[in-house]
Amino acid sequence: MHLTSETVESLVEQLSKLPTVGRKTAQRLAAFILKMPREEVVEIARAMVAAKDRVKTCSVCFNVTDVDPCPVCQSAKRDRSVICVVEEPSDVLALERTGEYRGLYHVLGGVISPLDGIGPDDLHISELVARVAQPASAPAVAEPGEGYDGNADDGAPAEAERVPVGEVILAMNPNVEGDTTAYYVGQMLAPFGVTVSRIARGLPIGGDLEFADEATLSRALEGRAGM
Ligand code: ZN
Repeated sequence: MHLTSETVESLVEQLSKLPTVGRKTAQRLAAFILKMPREEVVEIARAMVAAKDRVKTCSVCFNVTDVDPCPVCQSAKRDRSVICVVEEPSDVLALERTGEYRGLYHVLGGVISPLDGIGPDDLHISELVARVAQPASAPAVAEPGEGYDGNADDGAPAEAERVPVGEVILAMNPNVEGDTTAYYVGQMLAPFGVTVSRIARGLPIGGDLEFADEATLSRALEGRAGM
């Protein structure tokens, strides 16, 4: 099906490249964009390009950031003795939204998946091991020329950065690849005497026992907590 305007057609085509956006949604978005004030459209386009150009990876935790190390790694308010390991930067966002977690993060950049040719060396696992192995690691050490100005910002005392890692929380997704990766990371961390835990898995809030699949239900049973 072709639209009457080639320009609109090309916009629909570009928008359909985004995840979860099918052709119908892309057409709806395109129609909406046509009705938007020009400045707002320019703002969206600029934000997309700026994100692509300016956002970099934190050299400590591998989360996306404008500054290196990222604000979480630099913050004196975070509990430096706990590292939560996740697959992707979007997982950090999800955990931050809960407002429950006050520790640091480590983004692996994916999961071990032999079928897709992704092995442990393709992920930031060795960097995690290095963080755990170094009891006096100073995360504020940035590579020269990476835009880090060397200021002791927000008065974060150097002492606060010298907390050894005591616990690593594995927050991979509950599927075969996530399980494999969690197991592998757990094995790699075993020699360092840190507590390694995995986030509990179970029924989604608002979920119905009746509609939960067996794996979810059995995991919910396994991960049961005292009342
Ligand atoms: Zn960081």
